Amino acid sequence: MKFQKVMKFGGGCLRDADGLRRAAAVIRREPVPPAVVVSAVAGVTDELERGLARAVRNEAGIARTIGALRLRHDRLVSGLLAAPEVRAEVAAQIERRLARLERLLLGAALIGEVSPHARAHVLSFGERWAALLLAGVLREAGADARALESEQIGLAADDVAEGATADLAAFRRAVRKNALGTEAGRFVPVITGFYGLASGRRVVSFGRNGSDYSAAVVAAALRAPLLEIWKDVDGFMTADPRRVPGARPVARLSFAEAAELAYFGAKVLHPRALEPVAREKGTIRIRHLFQPDRPGTEIAAEGGTAETVLKSVTSNDRIAVLRVSGPGVGFRPGVIGDIGRSLADRGVNILSVITAQTAINVLVAEEDARRARRILRGIRRGVVTRVELETGLALVAAVGEGLASERGLAARVFAAVADNGVNVEMISSGASSAAAYFLVRKADVLPAVRALHAEFFEARANRPPNRAG
Ligand code: ADP
Ligand code: ASP
Ligand code: MG
Repeated sequence: MKFQKVMKFGGGCLRDADGLRRAAAVIRREPVPPAVVVSAVAGVTDELERGLARAVRNEAGIARTIGALRLRHDRLVSGLLAAPEVRAEVAAQIERRLARLERLLLGAALIGEVSPHARAHVLSFGERWAALLLAGVLREAGADARALESEQIGLAADDVAEGATADLAAFRRAVRKNALGTEAGRFVPVITGFYGLASGRRVVSFGRNGSDYSAAVVAAALRAPLLEIWKDVDGFMTADPRRVPGARPVARLSFAEAAELAYFGAKVLHPRALEPVAREKGTIRIRHLFQPDRPGTEIAAEGGTAETVLKSVTSNDRIAVLRVSGPGVGFRPGVIGDIGRSLADRGVNILSVITAQTAINVLVAEEDARRARRILRGIRRGVVTRVELETGLALVAAVGEGLASERGLAARVFAAVADNGVNVEMISSGASSAAAYFLVRKADVLPAVRALHAEFFEARANRPPNRAG
């Protein structure tokens, strides 16, 4: 036996008793017990983050943090669990972890600062409580469900405290010996998302929103062909539904398309969740917990063709551009290599590079910008003469396999934007066969995204007036 399916429930699904009940109901519909991965209950990770910041300032705030977290989870226990044994067991396990968290916060208060590892450890508690709760609801409904923390299943990772990468080989070796391997398909494991263990004991997180990645790693380790990610939206939409009211669900995407979308800003899926599943030739399905009979979005090796090549539009305004210039930058060999290496060595991730003969534009996350500038100022004296930081830009990406090769399509993308009075500051097209992206002033992001969405996804009558007809 093996697990055929991994089901991941995000914080957006687990916001209250109703969400947890619905999650349990879709799990119970499965004919064969699936493996389940959970995020923290909505808002709990943020609460842990705030609580930790307060603790570092002074000890007095700790009681408030613990009190608020206890109240939130106790309410869920009383709302969800009626059977006295299940209820008492879950409540006791939650309390035990509250006590451990309190000790960690006291430690932070005593020292007056917090290491990245201690932070990762503190933030991991939300997932621990959520796993206990959901497993409790399932047990009460008669399923053989067990909450399993990353420690118990040997979810190994490298030692990057808040952006770790799972060690799949080590995790697989552990799985062979634990219940996930020996009792595969015979019970419902409810596994904590978001964190793993370095050297078998140090808690390291996969970064904010990292539970999608955890779920992908679990699916890969268990060789489960299907990963279902349950959300509070229909799946990948043609644009962020919070910003574009007319956004519609996208039925199918290739891994490459989903990667471009996730990487360039669509918050619905963590960009790193794709690689482990793609490598195992698996499939990801994104499903709507509150509309469980809708198909959602399927992400597989072949994306399938839509009537339009374009599948979705996304944006990211938390970027910065470093313009590295100098007379030899465009033709001296190795400059890009030096830039890449020196940033990578210090842990700065490059989102993209747009080159010209005398300048190389390096896109990085906003929070890395100043550090990246310092690093780049140290390289290749004589070749690089200036490193300028531009923080006023944002990135807009149009995604669809074949976009670069379909004649006239890129032109239509840029015309739609320009016709709405948005100036395009920089373009990168053709770098990937699945995306065209460009930079605009931050204030122009929403008009640009809406113009593209109207051009490609909305009925002609709804288009902005200057493009109608
Ligand atoms: P979870 O807690 O389940 O991980 P998130 O809040 O992290 O869920 O991600 C889901 C949210 O992502 C949705 O509620 C939606 O508002 C937002 N979102 C952004 N871009 C897109 C997109 N292109 N398609 C769908 N949802 C998107
Ligand atoms: N609970 C974590 C967060 O809020 C991980 C996740 O939800 O994926 O970032
Ligand atoms: Mg998320």
